[in-house]
Amino acid sequence: MSLDEYRRKRDFTKSPEPSGESTRDRSNEPDADGRVFCVQKHLASQLHYDLRLEHRGVLLSWAIPKGPSINSRDKRLAVHVEDHPIDYRKFEGVIHEGYGAGIIMLWDTGTWTPDVNDVDDALKEGTLRLTLHGTKLKGSWVLIKTGWSQSRKSLTRKNNSWLLIKNSDEWSSTIDITTSAPLSIESLGKFEDILAADSRKLWTSNRPAKSGSAKELLDETITRAETIRASRTAAAQTKNPSQNQNEEN
Ligand code: MN
Repeated sequence: MSLDEYRRKRDFTKSPEPSGESTRDRSNEPDADGRVFCVQKHLASQLHYDLRLEHRGVLLSWAIPKGPSINSRDKRLAVHVEDHPIDYRKFEGVIHEGYGAGIIMLWDTGTWTPDVNDVDDALKEGTLRLTLHGTKLKGSWVLIKTGWSQSRKSLTRKNNSWLLIKNSDEWSSTIDITTSAPLSIESLGKFEDILAADSRKLWTSNRPAKSGSAKELLDETITRAETIRASRTAAAQTKNPSQNQNEEN
């Protein structure tokens, strides 16, 4: 478990993401005894969801293109990516440029329990059974390493492909959790609220999502964020007409 790859990919003078340098003090936190987990909804070049599980002081991370499903019949591709620092569990915000540029929403958070004796062994063997105690995601799940993935021409060996599957229990359902519970667990906002709350300029050029549905979603999000900012400026001016409101920062 190391944050070398995480740090190598990022320039912390430009990214608002945690560098992972700070030491952990969870003594005042109610979940101090549990392993934390979080899911971040990430509108980058593609929309995806990042599942992160605390283990040995870092967050093991999987990027899930379609997001988690609580339907036990679904198998969601989960691409194992670099470990993230523990501070990342609370991160929500805008990455303006560089690796992962886009908008990150804290979509779910809570604690998790491994349903295996040894997490390191389970990761090596490629079957991690776990229980999630989140607000949106609960109950029994399994992460299974596939070892194989479909490339353009054939099945190829790929060591980072896993499947996230909900086991059938009282928390499984055919409800689509990503559309029925789309908002931030932190701010209760949408992507546009997170973007409008960010102090920097909205993207006018060089947007991180360049094509397809992610581009459409980002374009809509920027337009809505502009509307939110404009209405806030108007409201502030009505309340305080003598003050010169300047949003260009
Ligand atoms: Mn991501």
